[in-house]
Amino acid sequence: MKKYGVNHCAPADIGVFMKRAISAFILFAIIISMQACSDPFQHAAIPSDNVQNEQTFNTNTDFDNRFGRVYEGLVETDEVYYWLSVDSGFVYYVEKDGNGAAPLCGKPNCMHELDTDKGNCNANTKEYLPGLSLYDGKLYFVSTDRSNPQYCCALCRMDPDGTNHERVFFIDTSDYAIQRFWIHRGIVFVAAYTNIVKDGVPLVSICLLCGNLNGTGVAPVLERLYPADECGWPLFFMKFYGNTAFFAVSACSPSDSTALNEIYEYDIDSGAVTERYSAAGCDFQMCDLCMDDNKNIYVSSFATCWDRPVCPSVYLLNDDHFERMLDFNDGTKYGRILLFDRIAVAIHTDVSIHGADTVWVRRLNGDTIAKGALSRDFINGRGDLQYGGCDIAVDEGHIYCFYCGWVKDDYSHAFFVRYDISGESLNEILLAEQGSADTANY
Ligand SMILES: [Zn+2]
Repeated sequence: MKKYGVNHCAPADIGVFMKRAISAFILFAIIISMQACSDPFQHAAIPSDNVQNEQTFNTNTDFDNRFGRVYEGLVETDEVYYWLSVDSGFVYYVEKDGNGAAPLCGKPNCMHELDTDKGNCNANTKEYLPGLSLYDGKLYFVSTDRSNPQYCCALCRMDPDGTNHERVFFIDTSDYAIQRFWIHRGIVFVAAYTNIVKDGVPLVSICLLCGNLNGTGVAPVLERLYPADECGWPLFFMKFYGNTAFFAVSACSPSDSTALNEIYEYDIDSGAVTERYSAAGCDFQMCDLCMDDNKNIYVSSFATCWDRPVCPSVYLLNDDHFERMLDFNDGTKYGRILLFDRIAVAIHTDVSIHGADTVWVRRLNGDTIAKGALSRDFINGRGDLQYGGCDIAVDEGHIYCFYCGWVKDDYSHAFFVRYDISGESLNEILLAEQGSADTANY
């Protein structure tokens, strides 16, 4: 029995961990968003159309960077969305026009219930891990699988109609807990981390594992150890551009409120990992990353670093330092900025269930695409709900939100809402709703 693996991999623990992680993330995002944007700044010279992968993006094999940061798994096809709710662990099939949604099951008499079907529903991934990938016509997810006691989880796949479930391979993360997975150009990437104590010193260890989708599993390609007092609750994210994958790690120091920021480049052709940036004692914690046509790397920041206010900004990586190039200083207390291939999105979270989050969607040259409040009309008539937070993804025409709400302590609702950007207005469409006490009922 491995020292940490069993506890980390128990399904219940993963569920609890994910809920705690999401709660912590939401809290982290909203606690303090004081502005520190008084410094004058100038826009760096950036081409307005700087999406790198538009010409080379292959829908069959390339990971969709838009959805790489949402905890909920999301895949878009021409007709539908596939939504993996981390609240229930079920995959849903969602009509893009808002006219229907259901568990992606395909079994004629299945009630899609967590308890009564004991996990036999095709839509049940038996897991609460974020991530859902469409690759070469198959939907991939990570599932609990203890058929081999050496492992806790497996990479699995199914047909887009929810049938033909099969295990691709077991995932051996050693002593690490899986945080997320991505599939891009035939390579499976898994980010994982664990807390350890070595010689009496608490440490945080992170690991990036990779493997060929046609192979037998994943193996570590990058492992890093940090003192726990420099690395409070690390974030991981990946972005993919052609045959290059960027892996970023960012954390704040609880002891002095500075940040640890690291960016690594993985070359799919050679398998080589190159360090692009690594520093402790930074002024801001990275929130996201993207790249442009000219392979310039941009990062965005949170509005706090532990308990210290920071100006939420976008930065350009210039050799070995970050150059601040785009501030979000309109008086709204934005808590974080996310980056997509063309755009940056600042988000202010309103914790009242009947309130509304505020977003500012801009191209990296500073132009505004949309700005304003995200209405919550879907909440109408649900006075018993408490707000649990929102996860968000954005493209040029849409804002995708995954809201969670809570009734008492253990009964939750999840809402998948799309806002269509029309001019600068935002039109709300409730695409799917999922409630769970002990079922995945609609
Ligand atoms: Zn079912």
